[in-house]
Amino acid sequence: MSATNASERKLLIKGATVLTMDPALGDLTTGDILIVGDRIAAVGSGLVDPDAEVIDARGMIAIPGLIDTHMHTWQTPLKGLHATGWTFDEYQARVFYLREHFGVDDIHDATLAGSIEMLDAGITGVLDFCHNVMSPKHAEAALRAHRATGQRTLWAYGMLGSLDSSGEDQSWRLDHVRALRQETGDGGLLRIGMALATLERSSMDQIAKEIGHARELGMQMTVHQNPAGQIRALHKAGLLGSDIVPAHSNVADDEELEMIADLGGSISFTPECEFAGGRSMTVLNRAHRAGVASSLGVDTPARVPIDLFNAMRLTFMLMRSVDAFDEREAGRYPLVRRPGTPMVDPRHVLEYATVNAARAIGLGDDLGRLAPRQLADVVLINPAPYGVALGDPANHVVLRTQPRDVDTVIVGGVIRKRDGRLTDLDRIEAGAATNRVRRRIFANAESVPQGVGM
Ligand SMILES: [Zn+2]
Repeated sequence: MSATNASERKLLIKGATVLTMDPALGDLTTGDILIVGDRIAAVGSGLVDPDAEVIDARGMIAIPGLIDTHMHTWQTPLKGLHATGWTFDEYQARVFYLREHFGVDDIHDATLAGSIEMLDAGITGVLDFCHNVMSPKHAEAALRAHRATGQRTLWAYGMLGSLDSSGEDQSWRLDHVRALRQETGDGGLLRIGMALATLERSSMDQIAKEIGHARELGMQMTVHQNPAGQIRALHKAGLLGSDIVPAHSNVADDEELEMIADLGGSISFTPECEFAGGRSMTVLNRAHRAGVASSLGVDTPARVPIDLFNAMRLTFMLMRSVDAFDEREAGRYPLVRRPGTPMVDPRHVLEYATVNAARAIGLGDDLGRLAPRQLADVVLINPAPYGVALGDPANHVVLRTQPRDVDTVIVGGVIRKRDGRLTDLDRIEAGAATNRVRRRIFANAESVPQGVGM
């Protein structure tokens, strides 16, 4: 299951509709992509290389691999557990408390299952916010699983300790993340980052310590941003930077969004979880206006499917509905099209899940576009048998594509899925890993959830 590849291995994708997401290259109606080793060597028409393995992509749409910037992969086996959850207390009581029951094998198997499912769904890259590091062995187990699946991963080491012991000594986490970062380096598929302890559960002094540690080690960071005012507080403390991805950010006001934009930063918006949580839904429109490079995440599989196409679709619908609501409130109804209104089209949203997401995980120069010298993470979508949507091919990608339409997945120049089938990973094994976790954790937990009325 290793994802290592020979540096001179060549792949030639022929005849696709290529959405390069690169402003200089634009779209190619019938385009080819030559991959050498782990990078794209050329994008154009009529490319020939006698040494390359050819992928016939006629009739397909090529896009950069999707990147999820806020995912709790360890919750993959908990699918459905919070589907109809309503309050934050319910989430704590039904989902989050289970972290204390996750053993080392559970973290491994959950991560394996989630990562395989993501790759199958065209999610070639992930910022895995692992706020379930209850021992060094838990962290090592998660990393072992990520190495085995070969998904491009920024694994964010969770600094949040046990919820029952606020005075817990966090220093072992800082020592351990340093050791892992030094051991893993920065050039491979797997990189180590940091998931800061949440501000509402921690002190600014502790957060400052974590940020200082991460910056010293050159690590990307992420943080749950839920209560109002946290972006401003971080900025005031001189800690905000483009190396921190705030997740959710619903309650960020316009001034806070401008602070993020000025620093060239991103936010990660998780549409399905925001919908269900009763949070403010205007942040993406306001962030877009402010020039923030928004990106998208699934957040918790305990609530929503591992499907970034779905997240993109909902984002497009949501942003339009906010625009339409604002227009109606301003007395412009029936709707009229005006400059800047509606704000986004599907192509913008695809940009969120590719170009902007790459930037959010610290790979903005190397990933997120199909262009020469970019890392070769590519997804081919097959619109057959029902046919491609008319108009902009980005419309088909964002509004009509499902994970089952993902024909081919390439990560770092290695084919991971082809003709709709995983090449070196096993869906059955992902399901078995999920079942193993469920058997173990619910044997130890207070009760086995029945899935009714949760
Ligand atoms: Zn989250």
